[in-house]
Order: sequence, then structure tokens, then C-alpha cells
Amino acid sequence: MKEFETDGIVLNRFDFREKERILHLFTPEHGVLHVIAKKLSPKNLTHASLTSPLTRGRYHVLQGRSDLLKFKDGTVDEMHLGVRGDYDRLEAALGMLRLVNKTQLPDKPAPQLYHLLRIYLKALEVGSARHLHTSFAIKLLKHDGMLSEGGCGHCELEASRWMQGERFCKRHAPAGSIGIDLALVDAIAGVRKLSDLYAMPISESFYREMISNLE
Ligand SMILES: [Zn+2]
Repeated sequence: MKEFETDGIVLNRFDFREKERILHLFTPEHGVLHVIAKKLSPKNLTHASLTSPLTRGRYHVLQGRSDLLKFKDGTVDEMHLGVRGDYDRLEAALGMLRLVNKTQLPDKPAPQLYHLLRIYLKALEVGSARHLHTSFAIKLLKHDGMLSEGGCGHCELEASRWMQGERFCKRHAPAGSIGIDLALVDAIAGVRKLSDLYAMPISESFYREMISNLE
């Protein structure tokens, strides 16, 4: 059985049988790994923390024949307590984790996205949840090559509708597309510093519409 250590952020957790949990662990070099943690003792706080969504840590895992890795041990680097204690921050953080879980694959390394998630989860402890979540969603689309620019993807005429990163004119807009401010999407995509991001006029309705379109 092969063993290795990896940095990871827990995206999701499923309780499985008694005292067993399956984790979706986002890692820089291995993409999203599925890890089973067996025989967890409720008294072992490190294990409880390491198997909790949002935790970032160093994970020691065993690889057998199946795709499901086995959790052996680990150390906690960051619990994000400042995010867990606030409803809006927690909701935004879990939304980011859902987007990563939905788009990233096992064995598809994504070191830049991992680095971005790490920075954004930390920033969420003090920064604007709405701005960070919106910006993360746009950067994730860009990372995956799903963020279009300019005009309608079909005819190149002026676009006014948006659907999961793609742009459409009125005639080619599919059902479910939304009419958000595309110039603002471009502006957010171009932002490099968090202080500039927080100055962007991202309204609650723009945020809600965009995220629900992506989820
Ligand atoms: Zn068109």
C-alpha cells in the first residue's frame, strides 16, 4: 500500500456507517481526492477537526487498489474559526467549496486554484463575503476556461445575457440565462488586489443571481 502526505482543504463530508466518514479533499497536486476515515473517536479533537468541512491541513493517506484513499493521520493548519462563527461568511465559504467540488476532478492538479481558495477562505474572516464569493466564482470560471468575453458566443453581436460564464445576445440566449451587468463581470475578472475588489459595486441581487446561476 502506497502512503503519501498532502496539503488539503475539506470540501465536503459524508457520515458513513458508524464512526466512518468520507471526505472530499481538495489538494493542490492531486485535485479532489475521496478519503475514508475509519474508526474515528469522538474524543480525538484533531481527527474531528481534520474531517470537518473548511478545515485546511496536512493529510497523511494510504492508497490501496480502490479509488477511495484511507485517512491515516494529519495536522490541522487552519480551522477558519472566524468564518464558522458568522452566517454570511460561512454561507459564502461553503458556496466556494461547492463550486470547487462541482468543477474539479480527481487526479487533475489545480495548484493555482488551491492557492486562490486558501487565500480567499482566509480573507473571508475579515473581508466582504459577497465580494469574495463573487470574485472567487469568476476566477474559478476563468481558471477552467469557462469565462467568455466580448459578444455573443454564437453570432458575436452584443451580448446582454449570461449563463454559467458564457455570453449571449437576446436571440441566442438559452432558457435560464440571466441579464446581469457584463461590464461589471469583466471589471471583477480584471481585479488583482482585494482592496480594489472591495471597492467594486457588487450588489446583493447581482451576487445572488450570479451564484444561483452557477450552482
Ligand atoms: Zn447571438
